Amino acid sequence: MTKVVVVGAAGRMGRALVRFIRNGTVPDLQLAGAVDLWDCPELNRDAGVMAGVGEAGVPVTCDLAAVAPGADVIVDFSSHHGTSGNAPRCAEWGKALVVGTTGLNAEQEAAVRDAAKAVPIVMAPNMSLGINLLFALLEQVGRTLKDRGYDVEIVERHHRLKKDAPSGTALGLGRAVAKGMGLDLDEVAAHGRHGISKDIRPDRQIGFHAVRGGDFVGDHTVIFATDGESLEFSHRATSRDTFAIGALQAAKWVAGRAPGLYSMRDVLGV
Ligand code: NAD
Repeated sequence: MTKVVVVGAAGRMGRALVRFIRNGTVPDLQLAGAVDLWDCPELNRDAGVMAGVGEAGVPVTCDLAAVAPGADVIVDFSSHHGTSGNAPRCAEWGKALVVGTTGLNAEQEAAVRDAAKAVPIVMAPNMSLGINLLFALLEQVGRTLKDRGYDVEIVERHHRLKKDAPSGTALGLGRAVAKGMGLDLDEVAAHGRHGISKDIRPDRQIGFHAVRGGDFVGDHTVIFATDGESLEFSHRATSRDTFAIGALQAAKWVAGRAPGLYSMRDVLGV
């Protein structure tokens, strides 16, 4: 059994993490603590009841230091402030860490990197196993199709509320292809198309197209098109559950590892 403390437990991701630990979706995990902010309305409530999976015997607390000793690994989906403050504490306590929180600035990310000198940490902006497998596959596809006349276009679809475009995941997919092809994504990325172009499409270009509408959780398709055929790699997230399940797989994997900063590709072994 790997003992897990969830930080940001009352949030959308935190509740999903508590649910999947308690109902055994990812087996052999034990909920050892649930942490959120001192002014969280769920404070002192049973974490299992809060997550809708019945009594867990673990109250939501704001005192990470009090529950950390009982943890093999701490899974943090809180905020950039929370995560960058917690990472050095995990290093001090010798606790493995999984960071799902996004939006860390360079200084906050440096705090996590520093902590990884003392403890094992998995950090990934997208914890989906499928997407991380796709990163690895696309690098290989890029390597194989490099200079063979394949045009690369990436189409992504997200819900109407998403503000940034293209998605960080779409850029990550583009970066994987570019790496395989030996290209610098910043030099070959083209965002959207509009109007009449004087030139035809350059060979060495990766096009990005962002669709916004409805409640798409996140669809990504990478197209390799050439004369006579096209090849498409698609991933569809149907709910945010995929991120929580990936994070818990990472938690199981990272407990007991050597110190270092790991990615989901390390977790997958690809
Ligand atoms: P949310 O706002 O629903 O939940 C965050 C929770 O963390 C809240 O309950 C908040 O009170 C708590 N919190 C904030 N600061 C804290 C601190 N210092 N200590 C303890 N608790 C604290 O947000 P969410 O949708 O659950 O997302 C949380 C984070 O995870 C965001 O950064 C989001 O971008 C990221 N995220 C990452 C992935 C991934 O795959 N890596 C997937 C989804 C979301």
